[in-house]
Amino acid sequence: MIPVTQPYLPERSRLDKYIDGIYERCWLTNNGPLVQELTQRLEAYLGVENLLLVGNGTLALQIAFRTLGIQRPVGKRSAEAITTPFTYIATASAIKWEGIEPVFADIDANTWCIDPERIREKISSRTRALVPVHVFGNSCDVESINKIARQHRLKVIYDASHAFGVKLGKQSLLSLGDASTLSFHATKLFHSIEGGAIIFKRKRDLKKARKLINFGITGPEQIEALGINAKMTEFQAAMGLSVLDEITQNLNGKERVYKTYENLLKAGYYAASVTFQKQHTDIRENHAYVPVLFNDEDTCLKVKAILHQNGYQARRYFNPSLDTLRILTKRKHKCRVSRDISSRILCLPTYATFEDLHIASIARLIRDLSKTTNSIERQSLSGITKAL
Ligand SMILES: *Cc1c(COP(=O)(O)O)cnc(C)c1O
Repeated sequence: MIPVTQPYLPERSRLDKYIDGIYERCWLTNNGPLVQELTQRLEAYLGVENLLLVGNGTLALQIAFRTLGIQRPVGKRSAEAITTPFTYIATASAIKWEGIEPVFADIDANTWCIDPERIREKISSRTRALVPVHVFGNSCDVESINKIARQHRLKVIYDASHAFGVKLGKQSLLSLGDASTLSFHATKLFHSIEGGAIIFKRKRDLKKARKLINFGITGPEQIEALGINAKMTEFQAAMGLSVLDEITQNLNGKERVYKTYENLLKAGYYAASVTFQKQHTDIRENHAYVPVLFNDEDTCLKVKAILHQNGYQARRYFNPSLDTLRILTKRKHKCRVSRDISSRILCLPTYATFEDLHIASIARLIRDLSKTTNSIERQSLSGITKAL
């Protein structure tokens, strides 16, 4: 079975060199030299400041909330954070885990990111933060979100887990909001096996978060804050550095795969009845995912099944729409657009070395199926016409 994605494995000799250093120093964790090196190299590569490496992308969200004080109750009741229902579970579960109430605002039907107009409708006296997601690496409507946040004095924490290396104009998409978080999980474009990062707007937040990820310890016999353990290890940093050394290769591979799918499915011999995500106009994409939208859930499920039969795994990212999960919310939010998109979306297999041959074969299977559905529709339509 060809998986929907495959972790990027760098040259073994490259990784070995970093690991040799760990053995020589016998320094395995607690802000070691490789964690420091990766921090600097990521800041330079991404064009950001105040970057803090942590153990994973979920902790990155939790530490960002804690640093910015989002979890503090409002009076006797829990604070609220407005977020999108169309994302990976971790965005909303991290909010809930910190005792903050996730409030879901529906998404835009074309960009699949949170819709600013829907955010406005959900603001209450308990709202303390907005947690938008640059879903599949597409930029949210950051101008409108910024405006709303300023008007209502809300903090903005972007879950930028999908947006590694994405630029908006000349600026890194990761430098926006009070904080942006990244996941470096093995399946992500850039990874450190497990890992994550927070990019803070302010240096003082970075300093505070540095304490929080190490039990609140500030000196050999000094504990200043209530903290937790969210540190990245030297071995994770070693993998991160090796993957970063080859990032251009990885990005180029992903771009080729994305464009091949797009070229095949949009026009010509393999043209199929599918829709691609509408990208923000000013964006430089990273092509980390290949999500496609079908006309209805039935076609989507049929495509998934036929791909499976032919040895290709496609995943229903993101299904279910999180506003339907009772573990997250008891409110009846009814995010109609998100539920609709969730029901008929598939992410197609992609990784840097994925061969064109397979892409063509997937495109053919999709085309054939959207054609069959169409001809069935035509048949039943002509049946109706005859009956009339
Ligand atoms: C992967 C992901 C996370 C979680 O990151 P982990 O490193 O797996 O904890 C959070 N949000 C989004 C949008 C993700 O895709």
